[in-house]
Amino acid sequence: MPSTDVLIVGGGIVGLATAYHLTRDYPQRRVTIVEKESQLAQHQTGHNSGVLHSGIYYKPGSLRAINCRAGKAAMEQFCAAEGIPYDICGKVIVAVAADELPALARIFERGQANGVKCEMIERARLKELEPYSAGIQAIHVPEAGIVDFPAVCRRLAERIQERGGQIVCEARAGRMIPNHDTIIVETLAGEFDAKYVVTCAGLQSDRVARKSGQQVDSKIVPFRGEYFELTSEARYLCRNLIYPVPDPNFPFLGVHFTRLIHGGVECGPNAVLAFAREGYRKSDFSFADTMETLTFPGFLRLARKYWRTGLGEMWRSFSKRAFVRALQRLVPEIREEHLAPAGSGVRAQAVARDGTMVDDFLILESERVINVCNAPSPAATASLNIGRLIVEKLATRWK
Ligand SMILES: Cc1cc2nc3c(=O)[nH]c(=O)nc-3n(C[C@H](O)[C@H](O)[C@H](O)COP(=O)(O)OP(=O)(O)OC[C@H]3O[C@@H](n4cnc5c(N)ncnc54)[C@H](O)[C@@H]3O)c2cc1C
Repeated sequence: MPSTDVLIVGGGIVGLATAYHLTRDYPQRRVTIVEKESQLAQHQTGHNSGVLHSGIYYKPGSLRAINCRAGKAAMEQFCAAEGIPYDICGKVIVAVAADELPALARIFERGQANGVKCEMIERARLKELEPYSAGIQAIHVPEAGIVDFPAVCRRLAERIQERGGQIVCEARAGRMIPNHDTIIVETLAGEFDAKYVVTCAGLQSDRVARKSGQQVDSKIVPFRGEYFELTSEARYLCRNLIYPVPDPNFPFLGVHFTRLIHGGVECGPNAVLAFAREGYRKSDFSFADTMETLTFPGFLRLARKYWRTGLGEMWRSFSKRAFVRALQRLVPEIREEHLAPAGSGVRAQAVARDGTMVDDFLILESERVINVCNAPSPAATASLNIGRLIVEKLATRWK
């Protein structure tokens, strides 16, 4: 049975960032990543908006705020050093009605508290930045950007392997059995004997954490986010990133316009309950996943509170016209014929038993295991700092 010092379950950007720091800072330690798919970054990391978030939205002092700020700086440095394309193109968060102004002001205050360079701008300046955007007031965040996260992952994987780290795909992790001072992890590619285990399993994070013996009170509820792309004739309608004022009750940012690093502009994502944790099409259905969600008291409480919003999102998912109407609040000239379907992503959102959505990153620990139980957006932006943090936690164990 191969033995390793640290076994990382999950080859998304968080698992890779952790292995990257481990192999760089502790070259004498043996590091192995096991990933259940045949390739890395096939789930959230490979299906997101590709935005380098500035950290403007998050509660000051929260893990999201701290890791987003430090992680974004680290990600920019990594991309610059490794020649990975990224663009600090700036974004606008736009209030289109007077009743959104107090929420816009709160975001601005948070941005300032988090040290984000941002400016409250009036309509005239907004028109200079985004000529087709509606809006009575906006926040301009010049330091927000775009990047190719899958390309980042490919480079992280190269660096990990160059330094002797192992990456084993098609190796779904199953049971984890404590064995004296190691843990035996059963995978589809065989058993591994690990001194320490780190789980970064995204949409499966609660299940995998439980297999490692961790008691997790929250459950992952999957929310699919669907995108459209602007046709080439309509791309002039968005220069960079145009975002709405998000609903403060939800961790999602609302449908927005995102220029992509390799060209084109995506619109979305919405947020509909997914009937399969890794179901990217409307028709995807997993009986086990759906039953697990529908029988979870936390989900039932959440649904009782927000069923109206949920139905609205589902309606937008089935009606392109309704989706377009949401986009027209930001860019009134958008028409249905400007939009072509452009894939989807599924967010892993941890929901607590009391029905609240776990807002912050959640990392649980035991003597030999570190579980990343909630790593929603901006965890891709923040990944290099989350990885650094996990390695610091491991290092306290072997000192
Ligand atoms: C629609 C959408 C838009 C987003 N937009 C942004 C954005 O613009 N900017 C940003 O910073 N963040 C964004 N995010 C969030 C970001 O993508 C995620 O926070 C981040 O990718 C999480 O990375 P991860 O490694 O934790 O999870 P994942 O990328 O989901 O990786 C988890 C991995 O674990 C593997 N795995 C699961 N179970 C097992 C098992 N039993 N054994 C082995 N492997 C297993 C999976 O196959 C997967 O590869 C977005 C997310 C979504 C869904």
